[in-house]
Amino acid sequence: MTTVGDELARYRAILKRDKRYDGKFYFAKTTGVYCRASCPALHPREQRYTFFDTVSQAKASGYRACMRCHPDALQTDLSLEILDKIDAGVINDSGVHGLADLLHISERHLRRVVHDATGTSPTNINQVRRLTAAKRLLVQTKLPIIDVAFRAGFSSLRQFNDVFKHAFSVSPGQLRKASRHSTKDTSTTLALGKLSGRLLGRVSLKQLSS
Ligand SMILES: [Zn+2]
Repeated sequence: MTTVGDELARYRAILKRDKRYDGKFYFAKTTGVYCRASCPALHPREQRYTFFDTVSQAKASGYRACMRCHPDALQTDLSLEILDKIDAGVINDSGVHGLADLLHISERHLRRVVHDATGTSPTNINQVRRLTAAKRLLVQTKLPIIDVAFRAGFSSLRQFNDVFKHAFSVSPGQLRKASRHSTKDTSTTLALGKLSGRLLGRVSLKQLSS
């Protein structure tokens, strides 16, 4: 829900074609088209608008993207920028809130844009990113496990162990051992490489107990 204050700010942004509001909201006229805040098209002063937080909300309400300001491209840009920042480890350092601040958008808006683009949450994406990095370091390097934890973006060894075990059903040390054993047999390594993380965990555990 938008507050009355938000609405006034939005009307003002539309009239001023204020680029700072691009991507923060979308608006639709009665013509069935939705726009970004700074759309260069003429807006009658008395016009009433419908507001949306995301492109998919506007689409779901039956509106199509304006051919002059291409609001759908704008949201793609924003989601790519968010994913880049997650990839760069911003959530590890400053949390989802810090990432939203950095991009001058609200945390709620950030979550919506990410969910629209990926179907999951920023925290989940970051978790997968950290686990993938950790797994690669465990298998491909001889770095001590505590270094793997910090390099992958975990804040403590304990947190790393907990999250890792939850995802793969084995500890980081067990996965490393299992991968060392399997390198003797190239076909097993290839097969393991193709499996998803969770499956890889199960296979490794099987190998350990056999
Ligand atoms: Zn437009």
